[in-house]
Amino acid sequence: MARMMRDRLFGKYAMEATITVAEQVTPTMRRIRLETDRPVAFPFTPGQHVRIQLKDPLSVSGILRPGETLRTYTIWDLDAARQAIELRVHLYSGDGIGLRWARAARPGERVTFWWPQGDFFTRDADFHVFIGDETASAAFGPMIRALTGASGVFGVLESETPEHDLPMPGQARLRRVHRRGAPATSSPVLLAAVAELDLPGNAGAAYVAGEAMTCRLVRDFLVRERNWPRTSIKVKPFWTPGKRGLH
Ligand SMILES: Cc1cc2nc3c(=O)[nH]c(=O)nc-3n(C[C@H](O)[C@H](O)[C@H](O)COP(=O)(O)OP(=O)(O)OC[C@H]3O[C@@H](n4cnc5c(N)ncnc54)[C@H](O)[C@@H]3O)c2cc1C
Repeated sequence: MARMMRDRLFGKYAMEATITVAEQVTPTMRRIRLETDRPVAFPFTPGQHVRIQLKDPLSVSGILRPGETLRTYTIWDLDAARQAIELRVHLYSGDGIGLRWARAARPGERVTFWWPQGDFFTRDADFHVFIGDETASAAFGPMIRALTGASGVFGVLESETPEHDLPMPGQARLRRVHRRGAPATSSPVLLAAVAELDLPGNAGAAYVAGEAMTCRLVRDFLVRERNWPRTSIKVKPFWTPGKRGLH
């Protein structure tokens, strides 16, 4: 019975793939390309994520410890033939099953992933504002690439030092700031840069991701100090100290 349920869920929502590229794009950002066994048939909007299966969530040990089964990464790119996805995984200093997987990933290894969920994608707006850390940059890349038309792109991206900046698509006017040892949690560096942001008003769409407490402070700043309507700001906490596997 459990096996039947597992097979049905798996067939509907999961895919098998082989890692074909695993390399550094910055000292702490890993590019991982997964080639799928069959074309990806699921609907996809840039900004959505997959969940990499590190232990079968429907196995006995997976059911006993569900927090140690899946980890969430944004689809950086889905190729035109829909037979490969790329991820950008931040190698932070710490420990977690996702981090261990990304660090050790090598071409030839098999991976199971669970297909996109999430509503972290862009909406129509006069201009767009992207604010976040390295993990957020991995989501903003595909969102910015998908923007069409003349709408402006603004924002602040934080990383450790300039050599840790993830290259972003297009001509996005994104300011880069660097922690240089300062905390990414309630990030003073990112908040100071957001306070200096020169925006064409409050009628745009803002996207805030990364560490949860920083996200909340950024949103509060935009609402209280810049009069942004809360509904114009999409906030997606990606991680926070002590919590495992946010999704
Ligand atoms: C919708 C969504 C999309 C995401 N997309 C991406 C993406 O494209 N690329 C990407 O790199 N990450 C992305 N993340 C973040 C990623 O899922 C988390 O960093 C995740 O916790 C990593 O799993 P782990 O097993 O390494 O650590 P966990 O077991 O989840 O956590 C272990 C410890 O490490 C800490 N930790 C986790 N992540 C970080 C970090 N970045 N910096 C410092 N400490 C950390 C935790 O707070 C915890 O204390 C996304 C998250 C969400 C919710």
